[in-house]
Amino acid sequence: MKLLVTGGAGYVGSVCAARLVEAGHEVVVLDDLSTGHADAVPDGVRLIEADINDVIDEVLAEGYDGVLHFAAKSLVGESMEDPAKYWHGNVGTALKLLDAMLAHGTPRLVFSSTAACYGEPDEVPILETAPTRPTNTYGATKLAIDHAITGYAAAHGLAAVSLRYFNVAGAYGRFGERHATETHLIPIVLQVASGTRAKVAMYGDDYPTEDGTCVRDYIHVVDLADAHVKAIGAATAGEHRIYNLGNGFGFTVKQVIEACREVTGHEIPADVAPRRAGDPAVLVASSEKARTELGWKPERVDLAGIVRDAWEFTRSRSQGA
Ligand code: UDP
Repeated sequence: MKLLVTGGAGYVGSVCAARLVEAGHEVVVLDDLSTGHADAVPDGVRLIEADINDVIDEVLAEGYDGVLHFAAKSLVGESMEDPAKYWHGNVGTALKLLDAMLAHGTPRLVFSSTAACYGEPDEVPILETAPTRPTNTYGATKLAIDHAITGYAAAHGLAAVSLRYFNVAGAYGRFGERHATETHLIPIVLQVASGTRAKVAMYGDDYPTEDGTCVRDYIHVVDLADAHVKAIGAATAGEHRIYNLGNGFGFTVKQVIEACREVTGHEIPADVAPRRAGDPAVLVASSEKARTELGWKPERVDLAGIVRDAWEFTRSRSQGA
């Protein structure tokens, strides 16, 4: 298939672009490089460096079999301080994309959604049928886009799949996480191990969990990418399917830091800090639906392995590779 990957110069988008190429697809990346990196685009893949809003009509007029839409603003804290940036940047842009897909007859869409659509869960593991009550603007914008996709699929025959990610981690060779503003636990802990940060703040140790720190479901970015490869193949006209992507088991913040200590051999000083607003105690996915309907199975579930891949990436970057 000829596929457009928006946000393909970012962390998840670049790994997906690489795996789609390996699966034999022709891939074009559209990215404005506001947070992505040109050198993260896989070799041999054309990069269109532009804002989706400015060029999507002329790009899709070339004729594509599908779009994988990753381009988005994704900082939870920023989304609360500057909601307009997220409502226009995420929802406005997605609507523009949907309209252009309709205008040019682009049949398939895979959308990068998030566990933040669910907010504080009543039950874990979280099923796709759980109530959607996002606790931040970021999650609200992703949920709004999911609703728009449902409507476009039903009314116009779009074949759509939304994938709701839990905690994406790890790296794929030279494709890894490098955000100007880093907020995610594993890259922050590895910054301490590599000497670019003094210590880790653990946000709260009085949650109702086994060691008092929050539990999250960490999924390897390559497993996540492979679900996208399956999803674009499985997308069915007129249907909008939604799947959670996680490993189905959780690790506490303290367990993650301990795994990073073991992998890196660094002591990694960590202090307890106040809770971070909006952090649920436990977020673990049920990915049974993706397993059953997409035939997807995460292969890289070992936490130490996930950390090792992220660590190799961090080290290669800090050595200027
Ligand atoms: N966390 C932490 N210290 C940090 C960053 C994150 O204790 O410097 C905790 C955070 O409170 C959450 C978990 O690590 O419980 C994962 O946070 P992250 O931001 O990586 O992902 P989220 O679950 O918010 O999507």
